[in-house]
Amino acid sequence: MPKEVIVLGGGVYGANIAKGLFDAATAAGKTLDLHVTLVTSRDDFLFPPVNIRNSVDDVASWYIRPYDKIFASKPSAGKVVKGTAVAIDKTAKTVRLETGASLRYDFLVIATGQIWSAPNNPPNDHDAVLRYFADLRAKISAAKSVVVIGGGSVGTELAAEIKDHYGDAKRVTLVHSERLPLTDAYVDKFRNKVRALGEELGVEFIFDARGEDRGDGTVLVTPNGGKAQQEVLAADAVFVCLSPAPNAAFAPPEWRDAAGRVRVRDTLQVHGDDAVFAAGDVNSVPETKQAAKAAKAVATVIANVTALAAGDTNARLRTYGPGMEAIALSLGTKKAIGVVPLPFFGPTLLPGFVVRKIKGPDLFSSKAIQAVGY
Ligand SMILES: Cc1cc2nc3c(=O)[nH]c(=O)nc-3n(C[C@H](O)[C@H](O)[C@H](O)COP(=O)(O)OP(=O)(O)OC[C@H]3O[C@@H](n4cnc5c(N)ncnc54)[C@H](O)[C@@H]3O)c2cc1C
Repeated sequence: MPKEVIVLGGGVYGANIAKGLFDAATAAGKTLDLHVTLVTSRDDFLFPPVNIRNSVDDVASWYIRPYDKIFASKPSAGKVVKGTAVAIDKTAKTVRLETGASLRYDFLVIATGQIWSAPNNPPNDHDAVLRYFADLRAKISAAKSVVVIGGGSVGTELAAEIKDHYGDAKRVTLVHSERLPLTDAYVDKFRNKVRALGEELGVEFIFDARGEDRGDGTVLVTPNGGKAQQEVLAADAVFVCLSPAPNAAFAPPEWRDAAGRVRVRDTLQVHGDDAVFAAGDVNSVPETKQAAKAAKAVATVIANVTALAAGDTNARLRTYGPGMEAIALSLGTKKAIGVVPLPFFGPTLLPGFVVRKIKGPDLFSSKAIQAVGY
């Protein structure tokens, strides 16, 4: 009997891990007897960074792909189950889906990401996803004033993208609780440059303040510290881009930390269970969560699952640890900026043309969809 590996979540990390394990099990001359089941709540793989461009311009064809090809080369070694995990029984080693179905595993990989809000919380069914983005585009197009609450990378990219697309036709205000865009994971010279590029596009920043969507076409802005006056902004469209929560409520509480993330060791195995791994945005590794970090984490999980599945109990498992933070921001179609830590030089700015070259004209989509065999 092949060992059964269940991968929960078919996003950037889960799809790559499932495909990598399947490829390892089906490679010519392989000795690894493994069957991979990818359980994912969506009809399609989608690459979240492109949601922002798709909110102003229909680029769905760049980055949304079905899972039909991921295991097509040997269907007996892998299958995709569309479903949402709602509970895990760690003693019986089963995952229960919302349909009531129960799936047994020898190894489990949790890669269910985080819970976002619009424009990053599309529904699960293919047609509904396309409708969701069409509705968003119509809403943004009709709005004269847009307020984005939260100036992390997602909120900053969204505000810039709308301004880049619509120019003076819309007023776009970004309310952020810090003194500059993003967080102090990045150096001030980078954050100042992001601010300057946003302002060149016409984004109006309100820093050191918190925004509250009052649901009546207004946003209440409360300055930090309670000294300055509150302000009410009119908003035909409001986007709340605050820190997302991990998507792991279905996992046993003893596997989760206080923030709800799946607690992992440096081998990416869950604390207290050697057969269970967690990768990507859902896990507790203290780092800025990014698709760009996937290659190393995915390779770690694949190496460790294959070593354990091969019965190599003496194997020295691979480890993963947070590195220094780098980021490449797209601010609409024409502006971009990045920062990367370089040995001896420290955090070094990447000019826009370099970032655009790295991300490519489709914002990395054509590389990302390779995860599902496209
Ligand atoms: C707007 C935006 C811009 C970004 N820009 C960048 C960038 O420029 N560079 C960068 O490196 N990173 C960027 N990121 C972050 C990057 O997209 C994430 O780090 C990455 O997608 C995380 O991958 P993941 O597999 O952990 O989660 P996801 O890609 O979110 O995938 C999670 C998957 O799990 C499925 N799922 C959820 N719950 C369940 C369940 N209970 N059962 C079964 N399946 C489930 C979901 O349907 C989904 O397919 C951006 C993110 C956003 C939202």
